[in-house]
Amino acid sequence: MKKLSLIISVYNEEAVLEKFYKAFCSIEQNLEYGGGGYELIFVNDGSTDASMNILEVIAQQNKNVRVISFSRNFGHEAAMIAGIDHAAGDVIICMDADLQHPLECIAPIMAKFEEGYEVISMVRTSNKSAGAIKNFTSRAFYRVINALSDQVKLEENASDFFAISRNVAAVLKENYREKVRFLRGYVQNVGFPKTTIEYEARARVAGESKYSIRKLFQFSV
Ligand code: UDP
Ligand code: MG
Repeated sequence: MKKLSLIISVYNEEAVLEKFYKAFCSIEQNLEYGGGGYELIFVNDGSTDASMNILEVIAQQNKNVRVISFSRNFGHEAAMIAGIDHAAGDVIICMDADLQHPLECIAPIMAKFEEGYEVISMVRTSNKSAGAIKNFTSRAFYRVINALSDQVKLEENASDFFAISRNVAAVLKENYREKVRFLRGYVQNVGFPKTTIEYEARARVAGESKYSIRKLFQFSV
């Protein structure tokens, strides 16, 4: 019996949460992965809008929904770590709330786990919705890291959209507790069989990006 945990980080997403949940409900019946059911973990990263109220309503409607709520905004990486720490699934998928990470990718991710992979990095084919500055800084970042180290090689277009096994989550919980974290890089370097799946990032379904230029240069606070 295998269980799936979906972790969704949420910061001031009142405009998108109902859309996300509606889209999720339309694929919910496909989620009987390994017969162990699923849990949907929303991590509210100190939202100051109505996000938390919306999440509470969703959690009341669906017993598989859990909400973790931070006392203030700690950043997307911290939110994902908290979700991973509390996930009970055998397969854990981290994704954004704004539907830029297509829910349709869950089925191919599950298929990779059944083949024996334990780390699936979702690789953007292109990021038309991101601005030129973000695409430029993203490329530059990966080039610098890959040039600096022989040991660590990061997938250039890896995103915050990834999936890991319970084994990998246990390693992240134990050994990767630095204050400043870069999860999408860690998951590529913990060992375990790994692969990539390509996806086309969509436009944000509503609301605005939470990342200012300053935030592009920090992974967590
Ligand atoms: N997010 C978060 N904490 C933050 C900033 C963003 O949890 O401090 C969440 C946000 O709600 C979304 C995801 O992280 O689910 C990605 O954020 P966003 O869409 O703003 O980033 P972009 O897609 O523009 O890089
Ligand atoms: Mg986004």
